[in-house]
Amino acid sequence: MDGFDNWVAGFRTKAYRQGISAAGFDRSFQGVSYNSEVIAKDRNQPEYAQTVWDYLDRAVSDTRIENARLKLCENEEKWAKVEDQFGVKREIIAAIWGLESAYGEVRGEFPVIEALATLAFDGRRKGLFENQLVAALKIIHRGHICATQMIGSWAGAMGHTQFMPSSYLQHAIDFDGDGRCDIWGDEPWDALASTAAYLAGSGWQSGRPWGLEVSIDSVDQFDFEQCGTGIKKSTFEWAELGISSVAGGDIRNHGPASVLFPAGVNGPAFMVFNNFQTLLQYNGAIPYGLAVGHLSDRIAGGFAFTASWPRSDKQLSRKERRELQERLSSAGFETKGADGVFGPNTFAALRSWQKEESSIADGYPTMEILERLRNKNCAAD
Ligand code: CA
Repeated sequence: MDGFDNWVAGFRTKAYRQGISAAGFDRSFQGVSYNSEVIAKDRNQPEYAQTVWDYLDRAVSDTRIENARLKLCENEEKWAKVEDQFGVKREIIAAIWGLESAYGEVRGEFPVIEALATLAFDGRRKGLFENQLVAALKIIHRGHICATQMIGSWAGAMGHTQFMPSSYLQHAIDFDGDGRCDIWGDEPWDALASTAAYLAGSGWQSGRPWGLEVSIDSVDQFDFEQCGTGIKKSTFEWAELGISSVAGGDIRNHGPASVLFPAGVNGPAFMVFNNFQTLLQYNGAIPYGLAVGHLSDRIAGGFAFTASWPRSDKQLSRKERRELQERLSSAGFETKGADGVFGPNTFAALRSWQKEESSIADGYPTMEILERLRNKNCAAD
């Protein structure tokens, strides 16, 4: 690729300023070239986003639950030691391990320096990948691994629990005491302890749950604007608003809580606590947090969700999502942009539109809403 070698030469100076010697840099970059497969992966944005239920079905499959239980039986002592040292339950660590690498089976096959250099050169998220590349070079510089053995995902996530290099520098642990924090090798314990250390260092509260499934007593009276991870209330306040546990009984106070309806009013609802927010620091996607939490519960013998997902809902394509945003805006419900990505502005616009239509204002986009908007817009023309 034109310009890649020049870019590497320029980056060499930048890395030097951050403590990477020229000789060390050259050793780590030996044989590194532009990797078009990495860019193809980065550009591969599917037209249809995965539904939360499809994602959770795969993430929390019977096989994954079963495999976790086998892993937990294998090394009772080590699991107990990780738990004691970091205050994070073994089922949570096992769930992350299962989701990130299928318990070490899928740790990635890209040379990390090459992948990160290609992404930094490409420039779509230049700052992010330049920082990760410097972090990766520091890991090599410190002697934890050599460049040729530093293997990971196309985006630079490494080892059993897919640490980015910057997370490694912050949280990696040498659990077995051999002088290296080895998250890449077949032996998973440095990686699993590092994951526990990551959560402990990101505010995990020992002995507290991630969340639980809840339901609303009266859908018509509930204000869906109160939902989302940004709004926190005590369990007592939520009880007053008609939120109760599907398991029955009062919800114990585990600190400030948020209520989520990941698939709108016709799907399961969740109350999530501080530890859920900590899981989101590991990976910011709400379905990911739900997958880790629910998988950990199932590993421990918990039940599947009580409410069912609206599986018959037709998924909106990216084009249709943009169209929905455009039609909402032109009907006077401003989404502030139509990029096909739904954020707080789109959800607020949807809720306002639903209120005016006297529908339940859950802010959840469906094909039915798009069709109603199409008909309205036609009638107005
Ligand atoms: Ca070690």
